[in-house]
This record gives sequence, C-alpha cells and structure tokens, in this order.
Amino acid sequence: MPDCIFCKIVAGEIPCSKVYEDADMLAFHDIAPQAPTHVIVIPKKEIPSLDQLTEEDEALVGHLVLVVSKLARDLGLKGGYRMVVNCGPDAGQSVDHLHFHLLAGRQLKWPPG
Ligand code: 5GP
Repeated sequence: MPDCIFCKIVAGEIPCSKVYEDADMLAFHDIAPQAPTHVIVIPKKEIPSLDQLTEEDEALVGHLVLVVSKLARDLGLKGGYRMVVNCGPDAGQSVDHLHFHLLAGRQLKWPPG
C-alpha cells in the first residue's frame, strides 16, 4: 500500500468529498479549507511535484488545468478564483503528490504569505 495520502484517496482507502472524477483526474474538497471554496485537483498518476514533471506529462498537465477551469465554471466562481501549486518546502508543500489548489469565495491577498 502506498504511503502517499492522495494515492490512498485515489484508491478509495481514505474517504474524500469528491467534486469531480474522470479516468485520469480527481478533485475533492480540502480537509482544512483556506477559503469558502477550496478544492484540490490531482492527477491519479503519482508525480511528487512540479519539479518532477517531464515532457511526457505535457498532456496530463494541460488536462489538469482544463479540469480546474471547468470546475471553476461548474462551481459558479463568478467573483474570481486562484489556482495555486506549492512546490517544495519553501513553498509549503506538505503532500508529495502533484496537486492544484482551487481557492475562491473571499478576497484573496497578494502577494501570498
Ligand atoms: P500542500 O500544502 O501540499 O500545498 O497542500 C496539501 C493540501 O492537502 C492541504 O491544503 C491539506 O489541507 C490537504 N490535505 C491533506 N491531507 C488531506 C486529506 O486526507 N484529505 C483532504 N481532503 N485534504 C487533505
């Protein structure tokens, strides 16, 4: 059994509040939301972070971004939203499985902390 929490969610070994799924992607509500809408979008393929992407992943990353865009429309995030990817310890990445945060529902500050 893999140690990766998000792989366990993909495998159905840890429950999640799912908002979208297709053959290659899964999206679910973050367990500790940082905004009224906080969805995590992941590829089912285990890629640790942006740093490990290769040219082979080009279509997968395009698909991932399109899922975020579709979800934002489907969730009716008319006031705007932010897509965030944390990569590595200085960025605060805590789960080593590539994931995009979709945040919305409040005024988001810039620059981020
Ligand atoms: P990171 O800090 O790596 O950018 O983001 C990881 C995110 O995953 C965090 O926002 C954290 O709250 C979320 N998370 C960690 N474990 C779980 C879990 O078991 N279920 C869900 N739904 N979210 C999780």
